[in-house]
Amino acid sequence: MIESPAMRISVIVGCLLLASLAYGDPPARQDFTLYKFQNQIGVERSIDDGRELRTVFSFTDRMNSVPLASVLERAKDGTPVKFQLWGKTSRLFTADDRVVVASNRLTITQRGESRSIAAPTRFFVGSGYAPVTLTQELLRYWASHGKPASLPVFPIGEITIERRGEDSVVDRDQRARTLERFAIGGLGWGKETVWLDDKHELAAMVGVDTEFDHFEATGRGFSEALSVFVARAAQDGVEALGETARTLRVDGDDAAVAYVNTRLIDGTGAPPVPDAVVVVDRGKITAVGPRTKVTLPAGIRTIDAAGATMLPGLWDMHAHFEQIEWGPVYLAAGVTTVRDCGNELDFTRTVRDTLDAGKGIGPRLLLACIVDGPGPGSLGTERLRKADEIPALIHKFQAAGCAQVKIYQSLDPALIRPLSRAAHAAGMTVTGHVPTGIRAMAAVGEGLDQINHAQSVLANLAAGDLPVDERGARLWRAVEAFDPGTPAARKMAAWFAAHHTVLDPTLAIYELDLPRSDLAKVEPGLATLPPPLAAAFADAGPGPDDDRNRRWFEKLVAVVGLLHRAGVTIVAGTDQAVPGHSLHRELELYVQAGFTPLEAIQAATLVPARVMKKDRELGSIEVGKRADLILVDGDPLADIRALRRVRIVVAGGRAYDPAKLWRSVGFSPP
Ligand SMILES: [Zn+2]
Repeated sequence: MIESPAMRISVIVGCLLLASLAYGDPPARQDFTLYKFQNQIGVERSIDDGRELRTVFSFTDRMNSVPLASVLERAKDGTPVKFQLWGKTSRLFTADDRVVVASNRLTITQRGESRSIAAPTRFFVGSGYAPVTLTQELLRYWASHGKPASLPVFPIGEITIERRGEDSVVDRDQRARTLERFAIGGLGWGKETVWLDDKHELAAMVGVDTEFDHFEATGRGFSEALSVFVARAAQDGVEALGETARTLRVDGDDAAVAYVNTRLIDGTGAPPVPDAVVVVDRGKITAVGPRTKVTLPAGIRTIDAAGATMLPGLWDMHAHFEQIEWGPVYLAAGVTTVRDCGNELDFTRTVRDTLDAGKGIGPRLLLACIVDGPGPGSLGTERLRKADEIPALIHKFQAAGCAQVKIYQSLDPALIRPLSRAAHAAGMTVTGHVPTGIRAMAAVGEGLDQINHAQSVLANLAAGDLPVDERGARLWRAVEAFDPGTPAARKMAAWFAAHHTVLDPTLAIYELDLPRSDLAKVEPGLATLPPPLAAAFADAGPGPDDDRNRRWFEKLVAVVGLLHRAGVTIVAGTDQAVPGHSLHRELELYVQAGFTPLEAIQAATLVPARVMKKDRELGSIEVGKRADLILVDGDPLADIRALRRVRIVVAGGRAYDPAKLWRSVGFSPP
């Protein structure tokens, strides 16, 4: 008989409701509250008779139901005997895993395929970030089996467990509770943070799910402390990275250094200097120019940069810094500043502050703080329903040091104007999606300063007289028929330029909808991903109608070219896509759209620095500015793909080796 996952889950739920067992060790019954982006989305329940542990969780994410159940049977010493897991681990991924231990062998079945291996002396079973109860059991097993630095967990792979310290947290009964903090690596890409109470029960977990969205869980009595856990996880994660920073840096980078014999593209738009010198001291650029015009300080250490080009550190204007592993990823790709385009404020502001304090490894982080309207599709932690809620929201964002307000899809278009006015009065600009119910030009007319994603501009330019809520076949036909060469199209593009609209096109993420064989030819980064990311990319395949996607993508590239020629400010943004690598792809696509290579480079250096009002300290290689620099092999003005070959990245004067950075977060260096 073939059981559907839903049937099996209902059987387990039934079992859970039946029994009421005495409290034991481990707990007979346990509940965890589940969150995505700190919004409560569901519950995990478990029941344990000492031999068999059954868990079932279920949550609803943006209207999609995600149910997951597991059964774990173990021997008296906690060693797994049988494990089964089935259901969904996110909106996108299903699981049907089984591990059976017999005669010192493990038989592992995943997606219908089985393999058998000799049972290691110590091992556990599990399934990534969930079920949460299994993470607790993993820690119990680990603690009672010699606390090894790493442990094989089937069918996931080798995981690492590190006790990171203790935190004091106030629980629901206002009692101060001392919790042990652990970092667990290898359950997915990167690490998650877990706290255990004095009974070794899991108090909280902060990590990401299989979609790489923020995911959290709290045990009974700890839900009120969620934001404390999120902030603490961010700080600890960044600091843990910082502890390894020394091993990833280039020797001797603490002293003043002169890069000599380099080709210089300073980012200002000036022609390249063929034989240049750049001097870096105490985190700043102290001298720059042709070798004949710069006198080197006596005794200064020099680095010969023959064959390489020095440029300002790059920017990604559409990041989502959802886990601390993005820090090394960005630096490895030569990206020294990112704008986070919407996230958990407790997490990103802590990451930003920890990085700004010189701990950790990562780019400078600027925050566009997200707000959405209510509704089943809404995103983030902040909801704006009516205009009188605006002052409190702006005050909160201002206090958190947000550079911008980001609006999202479900915001009531009528709120754009009052929200923009309040943001502007508080010294913030407004960026975001064009909400449902309004088109791009109208949203700009209401006060939206910047637009994320080229798609909504293309839709506006192509839509003609179509109703504003038309997003289906009629709009698609209009897009397909749209000709960016007409005077009408040029006039609309000029309108955006006249309104000083700033666009981050995120072409790289749209390109992921093209057939993977197309993409592999242009994105070498795809071949460098750590296994959990590679699996995610393999499972979340391209869209169904390849030719249609190709035609649509060509229109998007053409629209970016049209807007650029009309003088619209374009800043490079990826929306993550292939981590780090896609920023390079984004710039390659700008060149394809008609930018000169120098213009493309400026879209990722001085232009975003100006847009974010940081051009006095960032964005170009000039005396007095922060030493955010990259040295790449070859000449990106001759071939923009040279940007992929980063030899050294300097962030705030600290020089890193990109290959070591990539490896530190599981990527194979390109
Ligand atoms: Zn985004």
